[in-house]
Amino acid sequence: SQRVVIIGAGIVGTNLADELVSRGWNDITVVEQGPLHMPGGSTSHAPGLVFQTSPSKTMTHLARYTVEKLLSIEKDGHKCFNQVGGLEVATTPARLEDLKRKHGYASSWGIDARLVSAEECFKMYPHLNNEMVLGGLHIPTDGLALAARATQLLIERTSKAGVRYLGHTPVTGIERDGRRVTGVNTPGGTIPADIVVSCAGFWGVELGAMVGVDIPLLPLAHQYAKTTAVPALAGRDTNSLPNGMNAALPILRHQDKRLYYREHGGQYGIGYYGHRPMPVVASSLGLTPKDVDEQNMPSRLEFTTEDFDPAWKETQKLLPALQDTEIADGFNGVFSFTPDGGPLLGQPSHLDGFYVAEAVWVTHSAGVARALAQILTTGRSEIDVSECELSRFEEVQLNRDYVTETGQQNFVEIYDILHPLQQRASPRNLRVSPFNARQRELGAVFFETGGWERPWWYEANKDLVKSLPPSWKPVDRDAWSAQLHSPISAAEAWKTRNVVSMFDMTAFHRFEVSGPGAVGVLQRLTTSDITTKPGTVTYTLLLNDHGNIRGDIFVQRLEDDVFQIGANTATDLAYLTREAQVQEQKSPGKWIQVRDITGSTCCIGLWGPRARDVIGGISTVDVSNKGLPYFNLKKAILAGIPVTMIRKSYVGELGWEIQTSAENGQRLWDTIYQAGKPHGLIAAGRSAFNSMRLEKGYRTYGMDMTTEHNPFEAGVPYAVDANKKDDFVGKAALQRLSGQVPSRRLRALTVDDGRSMILGKEPVFYNDKVAGYVTTAAFGYTIGKPIAYAWLPGGVSEGGSVEIEYFGKRIKATVEVESLYDPGMNRLNQ
Ligand code: FAD
Repeated sequence: SQRVVIIGAGIVGTNLADELVSRGWNDITVVEQGPLHMPGGSTSHAPGLVFQTSPSKTMTHLARYTVEKLLSIEKDGHKCFNQVGGLEVATTPARLEDLKRKHGYASSWGIDARLVSAEECFKMYPHLNNEMVLGGLHIPTDGLALAARATQLLIERTSKAGVRYLGHTPVTGIERDGRRVTGVNTPGGTIPADIVVSCAGFWGVELGAMVGVDIPLLPLAHQYAKTTAVPALAGRDTNSLPNGMNAALPILRHQDKRLYYREHGGQYGIGYYGHRPMPVVASSLGLTPKDVDEQNMPSRLEFTTEDFDPAWKETQKLLPALQDTEIADGFNGVFSFTPDGGPLLGQPSHLDGFYVAEAVWVTHSAGVARALAQILTTGRSEIDVSECELSRFEEVQLNRDYVTETGQQNFVEIYDILHPLQQRASPRNLRVSPFNARQRELGAVFFETGGWERPWWYEANKDLVKSLPPSWKPVDRDAWSAQLHSPISAAEAWKTRNVVSMFDMTAFHRFEVSGPGAVGVLQRLTTSDITTKPGTVTYTLLLNDHGNIRGDIFVQRLEDDVFQIGANTATDLAYLTREAQVQEQKSPGKWIQVRDITGSTCCIGLWGPRARDVIGGISTVDVSNKGLPYFNLKKAILAGIPVTMIRKSYVGELGWEIQTSAENGQRLWDTIYQAGKPHGLIAAGRSAFNSMRLEKGYRTYGMDMTTEHNPFEAGVPYAVDANKKDDFVGKAALQRLSGQVPSRRLRALTVDDGRSMILGKEPVFYNDKVAGYVTTAAFGYTIGKPIAYAWLPGGVSEGGSVEIEYFGKRIKATVEVESLYDPGMNRLNQ
């Protein structure tokens, strides 16, 4: 088997060794700079609270597996997880409401959870101040991870299985031969390796730097304190129990004041996120001392009492039993934050054999380790980990300024009630399209993704709302779904469906794949035959070997050896780049260049029944249906501007994506805007776009479908060419799958009352039982009803009646035949 070196013997590194051993790997070395009995990283002092539920299905499932695994590790009659349950209390009406939303997430992701009254909270947790608590959310399977103990037991178990552990051994460099890593340097010499996995926790930045990889994590100190003995807990004999087992009360969260609690025998442990962010540079902490102990380890910084004062006051209010105690011991403990709060898992595109598993909480540790072990063993994690991918960040998000600012924000907001559309105030305006100045003139309200500013709607269209016909009049929304929403979007959708609108499509990823090997690599990676003639557009899927979807892309053939790819994420770029390089190594004469041209180009989507009237007069090429049919493209000159016109539409209307290089962008905008004005053209934003996308049933990768789904269940079999002769990744698996009846399906739902909004991720009930969950949702302005896409059992068929739970309320919905709008594609093919 291949030689694996894991850097770091914290909860992640040791779990990874264990997961690999259980999959038959037998040449594993774990290198740890600290002493193995207490390495001194974040794990060594982690209080180990595991609240499993989050808005993310992935993170919840990673946590759920961690709980299962820690429950299975046992010694001397004690497991490594104390399932005391988790209680989150609300002390404000807003939090009480939000717990209902959270209860919905738990139901969606299969975690048993119960909303409980104030009385029940008090019964479960008698130390609570019953005048403050309004209610709670109880999750019986949450509890305390005995992380340091689990680490030791995993070291013991995997050592017996042949894993070598080298304590007191810092990795000082990483060896490579070309693009492949070949080993790690230590003061004792080089340890050869085929695979090196950095599980170095908050030292990840330093490890990444050894191979030129920017690791976007920020180490931050976070305060944790223990009280003196609590009289109310006296009398329990817990001294003989391992730390973590010495607790009976549920783990407790008081998020309104950014606090959490656990019991340590007769004492309380208090964690606080309300203090100022305290960034740390790992390399400044010095070498891990020879003798690490509870008080003396690199991840444990001096307690700053004044930062903790508000926490202590609030704690004594919530838990009056603590008024008779003092802070016995406190520290500022270091762990990692990232720009979007997710972990970092995977490999950089320019290196072979180097992986990271960092910025991982104890909560998700075994789950992340299993995911990586599965990726290394079979090429795929059974839990979709796209949102953890190291390669998910854009270049602009990898620099220290960005990571420092956003990492700190995530620390501050960690317990805040965040709307799914919530926007950060800073950093903003990192990437703007060439149309930005014009969009501002039109009162664009911008949302940010991947550093790009994208118009969500335009205030300039406000007056159109008054002229909407009755069937298009926007319905009143509840206060939550009304946030970050404007009825102007309805007017923008109306104009697009009935007249014509222009959309800024610049932020969508565009890559150029060129060279004599381009056809070969695209043919090998996609589900379609892309050997079509230049000038054609193909919507196709990227699969893994298991036939599951790892991306959906548009392949636009510009010339024999030049393709432009319309893609979703930076991860798609990393994948294409890596695969192109792999292929080039196999056939050296057939070079392939993969270039990200997103920022050097820009794109306007011009869509609506009058699109041809706008362009007809200024185009040098025939834009009739015959001259430029659907899913074809042409180079053209529009009023002197060189453009590529691509006949496709996410919104389901006649029109083109019109693309030019960045320096021509503003002129292109002005040209189309002027040419369109006499025909009633407006600029329209992403909010209207999303609504129309759902009406057409176009899936969003990463939200509607992921690596957990195959094309048949996801409802995109049309993107698979059943007659494709050449082999492609996932072909054999697809052939096996194509004969099976899907056990689940992505379905289109509409809300029966025509007005109750849902925003995504809500649980869906069938016959009064949770049967699935919503992926994405929007109000369908054309059809006059809210739309939700949802994963449901295969047996729930079209016409079926389901209920969606939104903040504890059931909303009736119907499973629809797709597409909801223009299923015959007449609007697109005219
Ligand atoms: P670590 O445990 O830090 O392990 C990384 C290891 O890599 C270290 O042992 C280090 O010595 C080693 N290493 C680094 N560089 C090198 C090198 N060059 N050569 C060799 N070895 C190297 N999480 C929860 O889920 N629940 C909680 O309640 C919770 N509470 C927390 C409270 C506090 C105060 C803090 C600070 C963190 C808390 N966390 C909690 C977070 C959690 O502790 C960490 O996210 C987790 O322990 C990280 O595990 P790890 O294995 O990735 O990193």
